[in-house]
Amino acid sequence: MSSVSSLKLANGAIKAAKFNVYTHRQIENIPQLQRLSRSDRFDTRVVASVLPFRVNDYVLDELVDWCDIPDDPIFRLVLPQKDMLSSEHFSEIADLIRAEAPATELKMAVERVRATMNPHPAGQMELNVPELRGEPLEGLQHKYNETVLFFPSQGQVCHSFCTFCFRWAQFVGDKQLRFAAKESERLMQYLKSHPEVSDLLLTGGDPMVMKTANLKPYLQDLLSPQLEHIQTLRIGTKSLTFWPYRFVSDPDASDLLKLFEELVNAGKHVAIMAHYNHWRELDTPVAHEAIRLIRNTGAEIRSQGPLLAKINDNAEVWARLWRDQVKQGIVPYYMFVERDTGPRHYFEVPLAKTWSIYRDAMQQVSGLGRTARGPSMSAGPGKVEIQGVAEVGGEKVFAMRFIQGRNREWVQRPFFAKYDDRATWLDDLTPAFGEKAFFYEEEYRRMCSA
Ligand SMILES: *Cc1c(COP(=O)(O)O)cnc(C)c1O
Repeated sequence: MSSVSSLKLANGAIKAAKFNVYTHRQIENIPQLQRLSRSDRFDTRVVASVLPFRVNDYVLDELVDWCDIPDDPIFRLVLPQKDMLSSEHFSEIADLIRAEAPATELKMAVERVRATMNPHPAGQMELNVPELRGEPLEGLQHKYNETVLFFPSQGQVCHSFCTFCFRWAQFVGDKQLRFAAKESERLMQYLKSHPEVSDLLLTGGDPMVMKTANLKPYLQDLLSPQLEHIQTLRIGTKSLTFWPYRFVSDPDASDLLKLFEELVNAGKHVAIMAHYNHWRELDTPVAHEAIRLIRNTGAEIRSQGPLLAKINDNAEVWARLWRDQVKQGIVPYYMFVERDTGPRHYFEVPLAKTWSIYRDAMQQVSGLGRTARGPSMSAGPGKVEIQGVAEVGGEKVFAMRFIQGRNREWVQRPFFAKYDDRATWLDDLTPAFGEKAFFYEEEYRRMCSA
């Protein structure tokens, strides 16, 4: 789209914008990054040759606060920082780039570094891929009974990348690590033969990078009478943050909204699962307008996102995020614990601190903001929530429960781990009260070796 027109909207005039995106090869030439020193730009380039980097003008011009770098949360959300790599890895890659090493040598070093960063956490590659008549179905994950995840092949990129992304491995070009489905035919067959599935979750990447015309066939198939059991269509997306124009002024924005409306009118529940980390993401006129337009279709918006060191590890930020969401009609859904992948050492926060931030934020919002569940770890066995810290019979413990489990019988059963103020993930925890293993562990191990 080239012409910039002015639209008359509820919030006054919002100019249509042209999607202009930069990748890591362009780092030296991105106009907004000329504000960085030459050496900071070099550091960004080094880290961005390992971790995915992609950003657009809207994020750089409207969301990043350049008066507050490097502390600005949006700056850290999209711009790779030097200490996201270990110092050894950073020096190794920096030396190769400085020496203008041959491309193959650099590539091998980069791949070695990536391989140390747990590119596929929680058994996604081995355990969740379903089968149709004995054949693995690429681009699908079916971990929990009711919900199938679908990764449409044209939706495996985002309008901008987050530095903490747990799906980072699929953005750095390793085809083997990529989840993507080529076509919808087999998805539909799979869904038809699984009446227990009520929710289809389109995810990526970000399905909202797709043109409406490409999205339409997948979504209209859901109206087939044989898919009546699919009640809910969820779409996981960061587009409300990174490209709200998708719903406001892109050439096929109104077709997209019509498609949502058509599904809603046919009796489907359409839920936009919006990824948010900071209230600043909801704070521009075009973001407000996108939210308003989506809600006008009858679709609802639910929000989720991880708690991250140096970006949102603060109860006031979460309380304002939830309040602003509720004000705009968004339902807070999950607060996640940063996953055990990628530059986790940069972002991780001890579970004890994460939980106390959650509690302190909850205390500051009305009941409508207290719908966010968490803090939750999306781990191999399931989504495990820290419910609180307690003392039982003189022992300090974490009270925990499964929000979702690989075995549904694990769901909602309370269990206890020894309190540990440094633990950052489920595998750092040990059972309380002298028990040898958590109740699900033996069964989970059997599932892994099956
Ligand atoms: C979170 C998640 C879901 C959805 O779980 P809900 O409890 O229904 O929100 C489905 N599949 C996977 C792999 C997930 O991580």
